[in-house]
Order: sequence, then structure tokens, then C-alpha cells
Amino acid sequence: MTSTTPGLVCGHHHLYSSLARGMPAPPLQPTNFLEILQQVWWRLDIALDLDMIYWSAKLGAVEALMSGTTGIIDHHESPNAIEGSLDVIAQACSEVGVRVVCSYGVTDRQGVDAGQRGLEENRRFIASGGRGMVGVHAAFTCSDELLESASGLANDLGVGVHIHVAEGVDDISAGARLEKLAQDNWLLVHCVHLDRELRGTIAHNPRSNMNNGVGYAYPSRRANKIILGTDGIGADMLEEMRLAYVAYRSDEVTLSPDLAWSWLENGYDFIPECRDDQVTWNYDHSDSPWHVAFTPGIRAINVRSSEGDELLQDGLPTRVDLNEVRSKASEAAIRLFAKL
Ligand SMILES: [Zn+2]
Repeated sequence: MTSTTPGLVCGHHHLYSSLARGMPAPPLQPTNFLEILQQVWWRLDIALDLDMIYWSAKLGAVEALMSGTTGIIDHHESPNAIEGSLDVIAQACSEVGVRVVCSYGVTDRQGVDAGQRGLEENRRFIASGGRGMVGVHAAFTCSDELLESASGLANDLGVGVHIHVAEGVDDISAGARLEKLAQDNWLLVHCVHLDRELRGTIAHNPRSNMNNGVGYAYPSRRANKIILGTDGIGADMLEEMRLAYVAYRSDEVTLSPDLAWSWLENGYDFIPECRDDQVTWNYDHSDSPWHVAFTPGIRAINVRSSEGDELLQDGLPTRVDLNEVRSKASEAAIRLFAKL
């Protein structure tokens, strides 16, 4: 028995993190969120080159497709390979057949010059026709000048800003600093410790928040529209929906699976074409929030794009060789780990 749904959207991803699984342990055991950034992610992103970014994005895109996810809103950082990085990610996704909205997360933490080069990568990619938003890492690693420049650039390009907001307590001042800048087309990621209302859509990432020990974000209490993201831990959106559901049930037992399902559907605001992609699942109630919430392990069998292309058949990608992508990604990961 099978059933179908539209393609799903991952509302916040880091395709560059696909190679991170199994990476060597950091020199120091991180004991809080800031140390996780310092010891894990900021050591990883600085070691990335364009070849690693390509295979990481391609593996992430294939795994998304195999999970019935046909659209990804990506947030990228690679301080030693900034120029052209968004083209590489867009190319890898296009080869697999997955739609992607790219952004380069600007920051001052590697110096003012790197911040400006990050802005320019966003500008260059979007102005040349790339599908993107202006990325910002987070307010606490940016000067006010860089935040204002990113906001102004997004306005000039007619796109929103994609930014981590108050993910941990280290970014507690984000609300005050972004209040005058945020627009309705901004994508505010996490907002666990956000102390006020900001304009924009909130991307809720329940698995990542638990993994980093940053606390629960209470998305159902926010006035903002909510979408679901994985924050780089794959792109299995039915899994993330189930997790979002039990996370809010642990706080408020009257909430139903329909709420988490509506957060999945809000992703179409950002990538509307995914609504016309068709995913066939190995389960006969994949379109029912009440069934999906209590059925782990539902798998995508076939994916047909809105243009009529068969992208996934019998659970395998049609445009790329899964084994080749996995082996090339493994080789890139070995090179990456050697540089850490
Ligand atoms: Zn993130």
C-alpha cells in the first residue's frame, strides 16, 4: 500500500555539514553551545574547500530526495572558500534534482574583510540569477555595521535575510539589535531565547536544539509563521515533524499533530513549486498527520517533479549514482578530517 504527498521542504539546512558525521573528536570537550560552535563547527567550516562543499552538498541533496524532500533552504559558511561557494551548492542540488535557496552566512568572526567577502558572495550569486536569501551567521558574531549592510543588501536585491537568532543565551541581545532591521520576508532560525517579537518566519529545529542543549523554543507560543528545519542533521522532514510533535506535547499535551504538519506546509511559502512535486511513500496514510506522527520509518519510493521528471525510483536517485556520491563524499570527508 502506498500514498502520495507533495514534495517536502527543509526550512533550514547546512548542506556543508553532511561530511561532519564521524569527524574526529574535538581537542576539548565542549560543555555548552558556544563551545560546540568553537570546537566543532568553526573548526570544520574553516577547513572546507570547494570540492568538499560540492560533495557534501551532493550527498545532502541525495539524502533529502530519498526522504521525499524536494526543496532545501540552505545556510552556508566556508571562510577559506567563500567566492563561488553558493554556485557549487546550487550546482550539486541541480544535478540531483532538488530545489535550493542558497545563502552565505556573513560574520565578522574571521575579520571585517571576510564579512565583506561574504556579503559580496550573496550579492554576486543572487544578482546573477541565483535563488537565494542574504545569509547572516548570527547577531552575536556580527558588528552592527555588518547587520545593517546585510539588511540593506537584502532590501536592494528584493530578498529576505536568513539568520540564526538567539539560538543560545550567547545571542540574547539579538532581538534588541535586529528589531529595527527585521522584515516580514526574513527567516529567523531557532529563536529559543528571543526576548521579543521580530518580523519574519521562524525556522524551528527541534532535533538540533535538543542536540545542542539550548532549550525548547516554544514555537506554538509565537505569533510568527513557523516552518521546520533540520539545521544540517539530514533532511528527513517527516522525522522532524514527528519530533516537533512530541517536543511540544511534552510541554502541552492538548496540541495535535495537525500543528506540526502545518509547519511543514508553511515551507511552501519559500519554495512553492514543491507543492506540485509528487512523492509516493511506502505507507498508505502518509498524507495524514495523525498517522505520520505515530509511524516512524516511512520511506519515499518515488519522486516526480512538477516538471514531470522521475527523480527517485524504487527509493534510488535517477540522475546520480548513489554509490558514487557516497564514495566521493567519503573521500572528501577523509581529506576534510585530515585538515582539522
Ligand atoms: Zn543553523
